[in-house]
Amino acid sequence: MSAMSLSPRWNRVVLKMSGEALASSASDETIDAIIVDRLAKELVEAKDSLGIELAVVVGGGNIWRGATGQYAGIERSTSDTMGMLATVINALALQEAIERNGQPTRVCSAIQMAEIAEPYIRRRALRHLEKGRIVIFAAGMGNPYFTTDTPAALRAKEIGAQVLLKGTHSGVDGVYSADPRINKEATKFDEISFADVLSKDLKVMDLTAITFCKDNNLPIYVFNLMVAGNIKMALAGQEVGTLIK
Ligand code: UDP
Repeated sequence: MSAMSLSPRWNRVVLKMSGEALASSASDETIDAIIVDRLAKELVEAKDSLGIELAVVVGGGNIWRGATGQYAGIERSTSDTMGMLATVINALALQEAIERNGQPTRVCSAIQMAEIAEPYIRRRALRHLEKGRIVIFAAGMGNPYFTTDTPAALRAKEIGAQVLLKGTHSGVDGVYSADPRINKEATKFDEISFADVLSKDLKVMDLTAITFCKDNNLPIYVFNLMVAGNIKMALAGQEVGTLIK
């Protein structure tokens, strides 16, 4: 199929990417401007060429994870708040890169910080999408004891997205019968049910997020974010990953 003939599989989507996707594996950069720029270009290109509405949830694991601090004796709620603030740093990096590539964006934060991002208000986020802006949801859900997987699912459902795209950065390009990095016999699923993901205890996203998606009938598409061109391929319904439904 030529690039010209690609059409979108979904019209409104939320893409979840981990904070580590923005980090560099080659150096110890917390945020690698070259990688962020590449991801931004791909997002803009995919959105423009397919004409979809796109929102992004970015994690904070490249900077801070709640669990890390807890082991070091930091009280969990505080440590999780630090993690949520880390997602805001990543969201601003992504916003800047996307706008440098010509695409207006809005960062909507679950924790109020009016000077740098607007507060998350569902109807406003919807308006941004309708106006063609990329919306970046920051600060997770604003509550501790979650990771950004769950707010990604929640926001997707709130804004009526048809799918939650889970872009991986660890080299695993979908859902496998076992961890393909450890077990060479592992096979990849093109499609799998929520029930099977849960009963086989397949590691895809946090259980809270998986259960939320199952209960609310929100499909998840897992694919490798780090392969050039994959965002567009996934959005166009090319078989680059695994659909959970
Ligand atoms: N976090 C939180 N509530 C949320 C979302 C995130 O407390 O709704 C905190 C939590 O400590 C988490 C950290 O923010 O570890 C960073 O998010 P996450 O671990 O999801 O980042 P990722 O692994 O996706 O980079």
